[in-house]
Amino acid sequence: MLLDDIMKIALNRGIFFPTAEVYHPIGGFYEWGPIGSQIRRNLIEAWREFFVDLDETVYEIHGSTILPHEVLKASGHVDKFVDPQVTCTKCQEAFRADHLIENATGENVEGWDEQQLSQKIVELGLKCPNCKGELGAVTVVNTMFPVKVGIGKESPAFLRPETAQNIFISFPRVVRAVRAKPPFGIAQIGTSYRNEISPRRGLFRVREFEQMEIEYFVLKHKDCDSTKSTPCDHHEECTFHNFKSLQPFLEVKLNLYTVSMQQGPNNEKEYETHSVKEALDIGLLPNQVIAYFLAKEQVFLENLGISREKIRFREMMDSERPFYSASNFDCEIKYSFGWKEVIGNAYRTNHDLSTHGQASSNMKAFQIKQKGFEPVPHVVEPSFGVGRLIYAVLEESYRQPTDREYAWFAFPSIVAPFKCAVFPLRKDFSPKAKKIQEDLIKKLKIRVLFDNGGSIGKRYARADEVGIPYCITIDYETFENDTITIRDRDSKDQIRASLDELSELLQMFWSDPSAFHEELEKRGSAKSS
Ligand code: AMP
Repeated sequence: MLLDDIMKIALNRGIFFPTAEVYHPIGGFYEWGPIGSQIRRNLIEAWREFFVDLDETVYEIHGSTILPHEVLKASGHVDKFVDPQVTCTKCQEAFRADHLIENATGENVEGWDEQQLSQKIVELGLKCPNCKGELGAVTVVNTMFPVKVGIGKESPAFLRPETAQNIFISFPRVVRAVRAKPPFGIAQIGTSYRNEISPRRGLFRVREFEQMEIEYFVLKHKDCDSTKSTPCDHHEECTFHNFKSLQPFLEVKLNLYTVSMQQGPNNEKEYETHSVKEALDIGLLPNQVIAYFLAKEQVFLENLGISREKIRFREMMDSERPFYSASNFDCEIKYSFGWKEVIGNAYRTNHDLSTHGQASSNMKAFQIKQKGFEPVPHVVEPSFGVGRLIYAVLEESYRQPTDREYAWFAFPSIVAPFKCAVFPLRKDFSPKAKKIQEDLIKKLKIRVLFDNGGSIGKRYARADEVGIPYCITIDYETFENDTITIRDRDSKDQIRASLDELSELLQMFWSDPSAFHEELEKRGSAKSS
């Protein structure tokens, strides 16, 4: 199975491995190794550049991972952040009740209550997957980690289950500090914790994970229906129906799997493809703000090398949606174990700001008054999981040992742990090769691997195994005419280039891999001398 292969390779090549492996690891905690840390850093930087730096309406904050009880009480997490659990009466192992049913039937039962789930388990005759013992009745458990803060007089608190709540409670300060006017977003990248009942599938469902979230605040006109994409009378001033930032993304193609497609007679279809513009015109998307984020996610995922046909946006059924949410589209990726959520998109109305305003008796601080509009801004939230994205990139980039004697990764340059490697053909060429490596690092501010151990074939193989897109070899000719070879990982083709043009060529190949073969056409292929 692909998952097993990747888990094995992740351990051996230093991508990620269980926390406290030398003792008895607790499920759902992982460490990033040297290669995984680089991939993680590159992914986060790529996200930050695309979603924050290139959008002057988005401000980034970095908040505390421990939040007071009051915050999570007001947000609804203390009462409602629960998962259905079923325990084996024989071995006492606990399982996610909905996942057991989903695995047995393929049916999505998210949002069902305890009675419905218990009844279904009985109907299906499901037994404990570990010991085949009888399963008990389904109960719900809160999946937050409680912590006590302080010594002596303790304050109840929780490890945050999502980064979003810091953003909502920071809203009054941020608005004043940057004089923000809707539409604007507040972004945060950070760790969240959920005491998952059965963490599984490696990075996919863990207990400590990183999220990259944006809460995008917009004003809603009192008479505007923000769940219908048809233009309203207030469209000039209404972000939901006239969102200027959407313009460059109107032609982006989305694979949509709406509620009616999931329920209709053709529900075996995995999605329908429409441009953003079409999807808005025929009412498949609720408003332009949601459309904007789905389109940006599509572009971002394709930049990470995820194929178009493996990305879809699934509209949540009414039964799955939190009560305050007016529309949800999960961005799903077709992993080797099926379509799974990698990014949650929720139109959370103005529920969060209103509840924090009420609970803190400070409603004014959460309002931005403009005539004709609701005073508390509405919010659309895209919420990305770092681990799930990296796992998707690992699956997509993984190459079985068929054309080579070893398994390797075709990572796109944007996430590759090293952007290139430098190899001296002979050990005594090392000083020259080191100088080239140092120059590239200084000039381009990138990570460059240096390797002078073993045959050149072995070094290419080691570079391929961790997905380094280009390898530069310093050979005899380098000393004669200042040229090197550049090897393309995916085709194994090589070109010869002068040292003067090296950094420019690499930058061109990183941004457009097809440029390598255009250069190859022009120059002819090279072999290391
Ligand atoms: P949610 O708030 O449940 O919609 O989660 C938002 C995003 O966080 C999901 O799309 C995932 O990418 C990520 N995520 C949520 N729970 C977990 C988990 N237990 N392990 C890894 N990633 C998670």
